[in-house]
Amino acid sequence: MSKAILYDSTLCVGCRQCEEACSTRWKLPYNEKIAAEEKISSHKLTTIRTFGEKFSRKLCMHCQDPACASVCPVAALQKTAAGPVVYDEDRCMGCRYCMVACPFQVPTYEWEARLPKVRKCDMCSDRVPGGGVTRCSEACAYGATITGNRDELIAEARKRIADKPKDYYPKIYGVEEVGGTSVLILASVPFDQIGYNTKVIKTALPALTWNALQHVPDVVVMGSVLMGGIHWISHRKEEVARKEGRS
Ligand code: SF4
Ligand code: SF4
Ligand code: SF4
Repeated sequence: MSKAILYDSTLCVGCRQCEEACSTRWKLPYNEKIAAEEKISSHKLTTIRTFGEKFSRKLCMHCQDPACASVCPVAALQKTAAGPVVYDEDRCMGCRYCMVACPFQVPTYEWEARLPKVRKCDMCSDRVPGGGVTRCSEACAYGATITGNRDELIAEARKRIADKPKDYYPKIYGVEEVGGTSVLILASVPFDQIGYNTKVIKTALPALTWNALQHVPDVVVMGSVLMGGIHWISHRKEEVARKEGRS
C-alpha cells in the first residue's frame, strides 16, 4: 500500500522541529540562521513558511507520476511502489533536467560542492516502506505532520473537513494536483494564500513534459546532453580517483 504524508497546516504552530529533525537525519547543519531561511535549498530539504499567523510546509510532494523521474535520462530519480520518490546519486550525471521539470521547484543542486548532487526530501525512504514514519512526523508534537497509507490519510483529511467545516478550506491539496501526490495538505484558507501553487494542472505531467521536450531544438538538447556528459565524465573521473585515494 502506498504511503503518504498528511500536513495539516491548521495544526501547525511553526515550531520548526520538522526542519531540525530532517537536517539531523541528513547530517546537515541547522541553526537560527538556517531556520530563518524560509526556502528549501541543498542544505534545507523542508521548510516552514510564515504567512502572518499561518504557517505552511514545503517539501518534495512525491508525485504519483513524477515529472522529475520522467525526464531523468539515467533513471536517477524513481517513484517507488511504497510512495517515496528516491534519488540515486551514483546514477546522476548532473544534467539537472529534474530541476527544470519539477512543477513545485523542489530539487536543488549543490552548486558549491566538488562533487555536486541533486538534493531533495526522499520521504525517509529508509523508514517509510517498512512501516515506519518519517523523521519530520516523529518530531511533530502537534500532529500537524503525520505519515500513513495514502488512502487512509485522504479519508482522515476528508473527515477533518466534514467534522470541522469552519476550520478548513474544503479541499485537500495533493489529491488531484499533477495527477496526485504522496504529500497531502489541509489548510484553513485557499492554498494559494499560504504559498501553494494552485495553478498546477490536475493531470500527470510526464506525458506533457516529453511532448514539450520533443519540440526543443535538437541542438539545444544535444548541447545539454553534451554538457551533462562532460560533467558526468569529470564526476566519474574524480569519484574513481577519490575511491582510489588519488585525490
Ligand atoms: S515534487 Fe518535484 S521533485 Fe518531488 S516528486 Fe514531484 S516532480 Fe519530483
Ligand atoms: S520525510 Fe524525511 S527527508 Fe522528507 S522532509 Fe521529512 S524528515 Fe526530511
Ligand atoms: S514540527 Fe509540526 S507543528 Fe512544528 S513546524 Fe513542523 S509541522 Fe508545524
